[in-house]
Amino acid sequence: MDKTTGFVTFDAKRASVKERLIYDQVRKAEVIYAQRLRGLSQRIVTMAYDALKSMGPVVDPAILINLAELLNKYGDVITPWAKIMAQKMVHDVALRDTRMWIERSKNIAWGIRQEIENAPIGDILKQRMEDQIGLITSIPREVASQVHQMAITSLYSGARADVLVKHILAMAETTKARANTIARTETSRTVLELTKARAEHIGSPGYLWRTSSDEDVRPSLFLSPKTFNKLNTRAKGSHRLLEGTFHKWSEPPISGPNGERSHPGGIYNCRCVAEVIVPHFPPDKLQAQSWQWSQRPKSHLNAW
Ligand SMILES: [Zn+2]
Repeated sequence: MDKTTGFVTFDAKRASVKERLIYDQVRKAEVIYAQRLRGLSQRIVTMAYDALKSMGPVVDPAILINLAELLNKYGDVITPWAKIMAQKMVHDVALRDTRMWIERSKNIAWGIRQEIENAPIGDILKQRMEDQIGLITSIPREVASQVHQMAITSLYSGARADVLVKHILAMAETTKARANTIARTETSRTVLELTKARAEHIGSPGYLWRTSSDEDVRPSLFLSPKTFNKLNTRAKGSHRLLEGTFHKWSEPPISGPNGERSHPGGIYNCRCVAEVIVPHFPPDKLQAQSWQWSQRPKSHLNAW
């Protein structure tokens, strides 16, 4: 416990091996979700390929309109499937999140466990599922709308059929990258929203921002030094500089290059997590052990 503020933190870096395993399982939920969504993208590519095969040297707008209709219908047809995928991801994350808090509350004790279990998360789970269904079904629908637009412009643009076909197939391929982004962003956001709801329910004032401490933390080390330096500022939302800093749940810091604000995991492609600070509960014999467990080096306190 930090003696000056009366708060203890959940330290992800020093968490038990068991807790780490549970955290890895959250990432596993992301990987499975991404695989399923990429499968959906592959189906879109195949549909586009099959429909465009019959295109001759001259653009036939009817073929494009047919493809657009097919993709739109596909968006409707996959809704029940999308619901199952969404339920699976949200359920997996929620289950693992519950396990993680139970694991953590063993170290904190003081009856906090019951409080965590009573946190109102039902509405969050429902909302997260609905958001997923919208996102999943939007993947074919967005391609449909672009193909439809091309059908209209092709009537007077005189575009070459082979160029157009190549363009549409490339566009269908890009949905695979979008599938990965959706899986990562949505899994992290689900973790964040569950963490936030439970943390606020037990009176947590905020958290320490924790990155995954690797070269991909934004700005990525794979960028040119010039771009890296430009992006590695608090104003540009560098997650590297946010590492270890304290934030209130009511005041998300700048985490995006255009001044977007979010908590860790709340912005696209972010894998950062919140190391929750929980209020100091009445002492009992478990306290000494917990204090020692949660003590942080002096340097960290300066950021508070
Ligand atoms: Zn991040």
